[in-house]
Amino acid sequence: AIENKEILVTGGAGFIGSNFINYWLKKHQRGSIVNVDKLTYAANPDYVDHKSFSDRYELIKADIANAKQIESIIKDVDCVVNFAAESHVDNSIKSPEPFIRSNYVGVYNILEAVRKYDIRFHQISTDEVFGSLPLDSSQKFDEHSPYAPRNPYSATKAAADMLVRSYINTYGIKATISNCSNNYGPNQHREKLIPKTVYNAIHNFRIPIYGSGRQIRDWIHVLDHCSAIEAILERGRIGETYLVSARNEQHNIDVVKKILGILGKDESLIEYVSDRPGHDVRYAIDPKKIENELDWKPSIPFDEGLRDTVNHYASLFSNDLR
Ligand code: NAD
Repeated sequence: AIENKEILVTGGAGFIGSNFINYWLKKHQRGSIVNVDKLTYAANPDYVDHKSFSDRYELIKADIANAKQIESIIKDVDCVVNFAAESHVDNSIKSPEPFIRSNYVGVYNILEAVRKYDIRFHQISTDEVFGSLPLDSSQKFDEHSPYAPRNPYSATKAAADMLVRSYINTYGIKATISNCSNNYGPNQHREKLIPKTVYNAIHNFRIPIYGSGRQIRDWIHVLDHCSAIEAILERGRIGETYLVSARNEQHNIDVVKKILGILGKDESLIEYVSDRPGHDVRYAIDPKKIENELDWKPSIPFDEGLRDTVNHYASLFSNDLR
């Protein structure tokens, strides 16, 4: 069983990867995790509760875009879960190159190594690979939706998914893919919507909103994403793709207003700024395959999860105010 195994988590010093390591090691009493992370600006080794897990956890600073480095680590593990990526759309618009290296070449290197040593692989991907839905429709993405990425970030993630699928089909590697909707929760970099809004609000800085703020994102708590990945590792069918969401569509502006409400701050802090070029209007995922096949469902209601997350960042950032 996967519980007793040695899992390589790549990108485990970032937002979702660190939450996954904490979730997994707390829940499973046996088995161990090796975390390979390049430690970019988005990473923080202390996101992982390494003091609690010191005998079952190891961090190695390495780059998945370095084929030799990554192969020498992969050959000794039982399973690889790849979170490592450049993850911020705005950065990809300014400078796509690191996205090509980490999100595409890095995945190619992992695929080559798991093929050579016949190792189970799970690729973490995003709903952004499917492009954008009309604002006023009930349409959702599912496992049959065509790929239509619209910015360099989502294009590199889409390209990586395609490569994983081709390795499953051509070489029969033991791989799965999950495409998840927008995550929120602790350990997210301050460049992202929720932590940025909290930071600006408690400092009484203006809160920039792209365009009309009517864009829709489908939000899931990071720990619900982690339990979905766990379900796929334990019960997922090899070769399959699973879409993950908590069926929770929210307009960006409404998320910001909820945050201001939680913090008791005035909506006059909101400042509308010109829209991101090629900004996707709406993402929405239909998770019925993972719900039905793997008996998975999310457990954290948005208002509750958002309140805890906002309070977490507010206390973290208020240290700067003292
Ligand atoms: P993040 O930016 O917080 O963390 C990414 C981590 O990967 C960082 O620790 C970084 O140092 C590391 N990394 C980057 N390039 C690397 C490389 N070449 N070699 C080794 N490590 C490298 O991102 P995140 O939000 O935690 O996203 C993790 C994964 O989940 C990404 O693949 C992303 O596409 C996917 N995803 C994210 C969301 C979301 O809402 N955040 C939703 C769906 C899918």
